[in-house]
Amino acid sequence: MTPTRAALLITGSEILLGRIQDQNSAYLAQQLDEQGIDLTRIVIVSDESDAISTGLADLLQDDVGMVITSGGLGPTHDDRTVEAIARVSGRPLVVDEATRLQIAAITRRFAEQRGIDHGVFAAGDEKQAMIPRGASVLAPVGTAPGLVVSVNKQVVVVLPGPPHELRQMWPRAMAHPRVAALTTAASDRYTIRLYEAPESRVADAFAEVGGDENGTRTTICAGRGEVEVVVRSGSANPGQGAALASRLRERLAKYVYSTEATPLAEIVIRELRQRRLTLALAESCTGGGVAAALTRIAGASDVVLGGLVVYADDAKRDLLGIDPRVLAEHGAVSAACAAAMARAVRERLHASIGVSVTGIAGPGGATPTKPVGLVFLHATSDACDLPLERHFPGPRGVVQDWAVTAALQLTRRIAVGEDHT
Ligand code: ATP
Ligand code: MG
Repeated sequence: MTPTRAALLITGSEILLGRIQDQNSAYLAQQLDEQGIDLTRIVIVSDESDAISTGLADLLQDDVGMVITSGGLGPTHDDRTVEAIARVSGRPLVVDEATRLQIAAITRRFAEQRGIDHGVFAAGDEKQAMIPRGASVLAPVGTAPGLVVSVNKQVVVVLPGPPHELRQMWPRAMAHPRVAALTTAASDRYTIRLYEAPESRVADAFAEVGGDENGTRTTICAGRGEVEVVVRSGSANPGQGAALASRLRERLAKYVYSTEATPLAEIVIRELRQRRLTLALAESCTGGGVAAALTRIAGASDVVLGGLVVYADDAKRDLLGIDPRVLAEHGAVSAACAAAMARAVRERLHASIGVSVTGIAGPGGATPTKPVGLVFLHATSDACDLPLERHFPGPRGVVQDWAVTAALQLTRRIAVGEDHT
């Protein structure tokens, strides 16, 4: 079965002005991929009604089965997506009474919580209940309902802009029979995640195992010291993906840390939790970035006890009790200081594992012997110590991002008992 093709129409003048970054297309692209739907185009347009209808009409010209739109469903005058879709689909706008009542119930609760008169919501409720005649309504997550609208043989799925609303509504869209009918069995997919594998080594290994010559489709994506390889079976040769992935895993075994798509921070939390380990963090150049990455994961409280951001030498001395002689002799950016920080924070929080990061994120602060990008990390537990010295490339934010990833990897390694290399 040939996969359905789909396109995305992302609305938002704030995206075109560079005020916010589009998050919805990355999410939807992954979702479509999982459903075996080929995403062929992503178009971003302003909030203008004409821009939306022209963009939509243009995408429908392509040979796509579905166009998904994001944004512009709210109650205000600048939310014009539904009006544009009504125009393109040739369906008049009508008030859907059941939807109006559903929205009114939501806004009434909202008005009561805030102690405001519910009457002020009436116009907005009615606007959001206007739908192109014959369209199916997807129950609102916030106040705006989504829509599934047939345009001849094609289908337009209309979703709200706020990313958390769009994500919550997407399964409702998927369950709609017109949308469900478009999904095909996604091809088998095999993920291999590597840390600190030179990209050239990955490319060589890929060539050595024959590349995609047997009809597989492989993508290799690198960043923050990590490389993610995803191998897909071709539809004609379903077994080829598994075979290629397994040969690649063998050749790159020493770099492989995961074969699933789960975010690194989530893997770290899980590995700690499975072993009933707790974690304490002492961060300098990452400014709490490691703690922030871990505490974004639900359930982090089972394992993360806490962390200190000890930026200045005085903070390292006063909050962590780092011996001033270590600072004087080796400097704050040193293996000795990193080790002292990890041990001190572990002891103070009575954690099973202490992890520290100290480095020069730049652009200032470099010395002849300590260049920008030099970072020392340390992990310590009852069982062992893992010191790590790295020189990360790039400007401040990049050094910090790489250092956060390195700290997460170091935590994972000490948790699972991986040897220090
Ligand atoms: P609302 O009822 O909140 O107005 P809406 O469906 O009308 O929802 P928009 O007005 O287009 O959506 O966007 C509302 C907010 O949601 C934007 O200001 C922005 O913060 C966020 N948002 C919208 N689209 C995107 C996107 N593609 N990526 C990230 N954030 C987005
Ligand atoms: Mg809006």
